[in-house]
Amino acid sequence: MANSDRQIRVAVAGALGKMGREVVKTVMADPAFQLVAAIDPSSVGQDIGSLIGTEEAGVFVANSLAEALLQSSAEVLIDFTTPNVVTQNVYIALEYGVRPVVGTTGIKQEDLQAWDRILKEKQIGGVVAPNFAIGAILMMKFSAMAAKYMPHVEIIELHHDQKLDAPSGTAVKTAEMIAKERARMQQGHPAEEEKLQGARGADFEGMKIHSVRLPGYVAHQEVLFGGVGQTLVIRHDSISRESFMPGVALAAKKVTGITGLVYGLENLID
Ligand code: NAP
Repeated sequence: MANSDRQIRVAVAGALGKMGREVVKTVMADPAFQLVAAIDPSSVGQDIGSLIGTEEAGVFVANSLAEALLQSSAEVLIDFTTPNVVTQNVYIALEYGVRPVVGTTGIKQEDLQAWDRILKEKQIGGVVAPNFAIGAILMMKFSAMAAKYMPHVEIIELHHDQKLDAPSGTAVKTAEMIAKERARMQQGHPAEEEKLQGARGADFEGMKIHSVRLPGYVAHQEVLFGGVGQTLVIRHDSISRESFMPGVALAAKKVTGITGLVYGLENLID
């Protein structure tokens, strides 16, 4: 790929994962980007393009993020790894002054706050988005709007059975957005009793969140509202991982023009 000063130099961590492969394809196909590093523990030393079935990329899989960032002079790190790896990855990126764009879910609130502080000190930007699909962002916004008028709500999220964290980052983010629009409240019967532990789901400020894990699903969520004599369901389905790519590309472009951490794609597109 041609080298140009205008291209953003992008490294991808988790490059051989289900999401990482799509991200590598997106970065390689977009003239605004130059893929400069691909990090994953397997197939080290092999050309990432050949491994994912596209043209050769001239970029070879590395397993040390620090070395890869140093050698490639990456400006942006896109991370789709696992909840137990992403935190360390972001701290390494920050140490090298590389802007993180994070899709990996299961990140702790205290890490988000610490990253924001470091990014501001370094005068660079970072993006963490539990969901990069525009339809999912709309689902969250519409749900927050609806909660003002129909505060009784439960969330059901459905994902493939290889997902490591539950509930999904999207479900938590939806609950956070709804919680800003309604007072904390008791839902269901005050005397309700779980005959099987977990039957009523997880609790977020009085809202129940239910996680389904089955083969065949990609990423789906229903937000159910109940009112007197009526119900409302807002549902979003990501039926392929391509659904996330326009959002990832947008974040990787916009991150070069911001300072501090932006949490949630909705805060980049408004
Ligand atoms: P995946 O298929 O398991 O991919 C994770 C990849 O990261 C694997 O190739 C894994 O390698 C690799 N990895 C493990 N340790 C690493 C390290 N230290 N450095 C670099 N790479 C490492 O998972 P996925 O389905 O792609 O999902 C990845 C994450 O994205 C999950 O947290 C998921 O919830 C999230 N996600 C977010 C969005 C969004 O829109 N924000 C959308 C979908 C998914 P091994 O398999 O060899 O360990």
